[in-house]
Amino acid sequence: KPIIVWFRRDLRLGDHPALTKAVNQGCPVIPVFIHDEVVENHGAAPKWRLGLSVENLSREIADKGSKLILRRGNAADVLKGLAKDTNAQAVYWSMAYDPDAVKRDKAVKKSLEDMEVETKVFRGHLLFEPTSVETNTGGFYKVFTPMWKSVRNRDVADLIAAPSDIPAPDQWPVSDEIKDWSMGGDMQRGRDIVAQYVCVGESAATSRLGNFIGNWINDYQTNRDLPWQPGTSKLSENLTYGEISPRSCWHAGQRAMQEGKKGAETFLKELVWREFAYHLVHHTPRIIDDNWREDWDAFPWNEDERKAEVKAWKQGRTGIQFVDAALREMYVTGHMHNRGRMIVASYLTKHLLCHWKIGLNWFEDCLIDWDPASNAMGWQWSAGSGPDATPYFRVFNPVTQLDKFDKNREYVSTWIAEGRKNPAKQALQYFDAIPKQWKMSPEDDYPDPVVKVDEGRKAALSAYENRSF
Ligand code: FAD
Repeated sequence: KPIIVWFRRDLRLGDHPALTKAVNQGCPVIPVFIHDEVVENHGAAPKWRLGLSVENLSREIADKGSKLILRRGNAADVLKGLAKDTNAQAVYWSMAYDPDAVKRDKAVKKSLEDMEVETKVFRGHLLFEPTSVETNTGGFYKVFTPMWKSVRNRDVADLIAAPSDIPAPDQWPVSDEIKDWSMGGDMQRGRDIVAQYVCVGESAATSRLGNFIGNWINDYQTNRDLPWQPGTSKLSENLTYGEISPRSCWHAGQRAMQEGKKGAETFLKELVWREFAYHLVHHTPRIIDDNWREDWDAFPWNEDERKAEVKAWKQGRTGIQFVDAALREMYVTGHMHNRGRMIVASYLTKHLLCHWKIGLNWFEDCLIDWDPASNAMGWQWSAGSGPDATPYFRVFNPVTQLDKFDKNREYVSTWIAEGRKNPAKQALQYFDAIPKQWKMSPEDDYPDPVVKVDEGRKAALSAYENRSF
C-alpha cells in the first residue's frame, strides 16, 4: 500500500524527514501538492512565486522516477479522496505553525484518521521546536536575546541526503496541470520583471547559500546593514517555501564560524530570529492578525485621514527617498532589504500613524519571501505593538538613516529615476513593473514629502505619549 507525502512549505528533496521516512518504508510513494484553502488566501506575489517552486519540484521529482500529483480544493477532501483511490496506508507531512495551516492540518488529520489512514507529522521547517525551548521559569521567550543564548550551543541534527529514487506506484492517480491554476493571475504588476530576480528551487538555493558563505559571510556583520551591498544571503526567498532547510543554513554557518569567518555568528543569530518569530506564532497565534500587546487595541491610528498618503506609500511616492527606494525595490524584485523594511514600516506606523496591518497586507501581496511569522513579527516590532518591540520613542529618521547606511546614495539612485539624467536600469524597471493606471513616468518631478520627517516624528511622539492605553 502506498504512502502519500503531502508537500507544503517544504518544497525540496534533501533534508526532508517526511519524504525520506516514506521512501525508507520500501512501499510506493505518492508525492502530492494541493492548491488548498491556505494557498488560495496567499497574496499575489507569494502565490506566483509558490507556483514557480511547485513547477521546479515537479521536475526534480520526475528526475527521481516519480511524479508530483497536483490537486486543487479543500485539503481534507482532496487527501481523503486520494487516499481512498490509491488505497494509501498513510499520509506524511512536515509540521506547520501558522494558525491557518494548523487549523487545516487538524481537519486533515481527523478526516484521515476517521477512515483509518495513518497520519505522521515530521519536523523540518524549524531548527528548534517551539515546545523544546523554554525560559528558566517555564513558558516561552518573549525577548530575543535570552532565547538566542539558550539555543546557540544546542546540537542540531545532521542533514539527511535526498533519496536516490522515489518508488512509484503501479498506477498514478490523475493530476491537474499547474498552468491551469494560473498562480500568477492575481499579480497586478509586471511578472516578467520580478521573474528576472527570483532564484527558484533547491539547487539554486544551495548555490546561493554557497555563494554567501564563500564570498559574503565574513563581512556580513557590517554589510548586512547596507542596502546597496549584496551582503546578505537572500535565502528568505527559499526558506519560506522550504526549498532549503534551516538546518542546511545552520550547519553551513557553523562551519564558517569554525573556519573563523567573522560574520558567521551574526548569520546564525538571524536564523534564530526566524525561529523566534515561529515560536511566538506557536504560543500566541494572535500575533498574525491582532496587536500582540492587547493594550494597543485602543491606539488611535489615523488611516482614514491618510488615504492619499497610504497610496503614495504603497506606490513608493512619499517624497522620502529611503522609503520610496525600498518600496520600489520590493515592487521590482519582490524582495526588500531588512533596513528598508524597518524604515518603511516606521514611516507608515509612526510618521503617518497608520495601522501596521496596512503594511503587513501590502508586504503579503508584494514580497516573494513573504513569511507569515516573520512578517507579522517584523510589523509588530516596528509599530511597537509586538514582543521585544522597538520602543515607541524610537522613530527611525529616514534622512539620517540614509546618511548612515547609504552615504553615497547608491541605494536611492538605484531605485529612484525622477530628476536623474541617466537613471539606473532598476529605477526604470519600476515604471515598467507598475500597473498602468498608476500613470507615473520617470520624467515626473520627484514628489515633495507627503509628511515631513520632523513633523511626522512630533505627531508620532505626541500620539504615543498621550495614549490612553
Ligand atoms: P539574511 O540577512 O541573509 O538573514 C538570513 C536569514 O535569517 C533570512 O533569510 C531569514 O530567514 C532570517 N532573518 C533575518 N532577519 C530576520 C528577521 N528580522 N526576522 C526573522 N527572520 C530573519 N522576513 C521574511 O522572511 N519574510 C517576511 O515576510 C518578512 N517581513 C518583514 C517585515 C518587516 C516589517 C520587517 C522589519 C522584517 C521582515 N522580515 C521578513 C525579516 C527580514 O527583513 C528578512 O528575513 C530579511 O531581510 C531577508 O533577507 P536575507 O535572506 O538576505 O536575510
